[in-house]
Amino acid sequence: MILLDGKKTSADLKQEIAESVKQLKAQGKKTPHLAAILVGTDGASMTYVSSKVKACELVGFNSTLIELPEETSEEKLLQEIEKLNNNSDIDGFIVQLPLPKHIDEQKVLMAVNPDKDVDGFHPVNVGKMALDLPCFLPATPFGILELLERYNVETSGKHVVVIGRSHIVGRPMSILMSQKRKAGNATVTIAHSRTKNLKEITLQADIIVAALGIPEFLTGDMVKDGVTIIDVGITRVEDATKKRGYRLAGDVHFESVSPKSSYITPVPGGVGPMTIAMLLKNTLLACERKN
Ligand code: NAD
Repeated sequence: MILLDGKKTSADLKQEIAESVKQLKAQGKKTPHLAAILVGTDGASMTYVSSKVKACELVGFNSTLIELPEETSEEKLLQEIEKLNNNSDIDGFIVQLPLPKHIDEQKVLMAVNPDKDVDGFHPVNVGKMALDLPCFLPATPFGILELLERYNVETSGKHVVVIGRSHIVGRPMSILMSQKRKAGNATVTIAHSRTKNLKEITLQADIIVAALGIPEFLTGDMVKDGVTIIDVGITRVEDATKKRGYRLAGDVHFESVSPKSSYITPVPGGVGPMTIAMLLKNTLLACERKN
């Protein structure tokens, strides 16, 4: 069993991005600048946003964090987005999800200028992704492709089963893995909450991408020997033995699945750190396009 080490791979990637930033600066070109909007004080969202800001500092990007109170109106949020769209120093920005219930998420994502949409959530970028045109790929699927490529995991002709059909992970993952690319050319099955006999399907999988958000859902009896496992899930599970009162659990029961796997991502330290690195990569691309 080989651990697909997202922590190490993302550190390598950040190092490469930092080198590119140094070169941009040495050539007198613009320093990449990422902005993030956070509405409210959700614990997990605050943690994610602060890791993104820290990662910017690490690679030499400029970063701006816009924190808005939970009761911010949709109109006010759309105004903030418009300001970022019009600010030529900002290369890319993200609106941290989930948003409070009174705000229409789709409307907000549609308001982001697709050229600054480094999360790759705007329909223009999603459409370009589906057509295999240059675009910003959504960071989590992009990070998974990068991890598979860097570890030379063979995907061509393999049966990939993606569990989960969300717009940010499962659906784009299923599209990307079926395309002609290094980490691609796979035969893809996408499973979801209405899928029947899931175990029969996962037992046929050469590669499983688990992105459903149910802790330790995929167990050893559901996978065949030699499978490659990408565990996207991150759920906070109460754990009184931890100082902070919880632990992070993936969607895969690591203990029973890892002995049967040829490759597997751990949680934490697998897909999570890759997501942040790819957000930086998209911001660098946005800046280079401008330069
Ligand atoms: P989501 O809640 O939007 O979607 C979950 C999907 O799982 C749905 O499409 C649903 O149909 C499917 N599903 C639910 N129950 C199922 C079942 N019993 N069998 C089969 N399919 C089932 O989730 P999401 O936003 O895609 O996130 C999934 C998980 O990944 C969450 O734990 C989330 O925190 C995590 N996540 C991690 C990263 C990262 O950077 N590592 C990024 C995004 C999401």
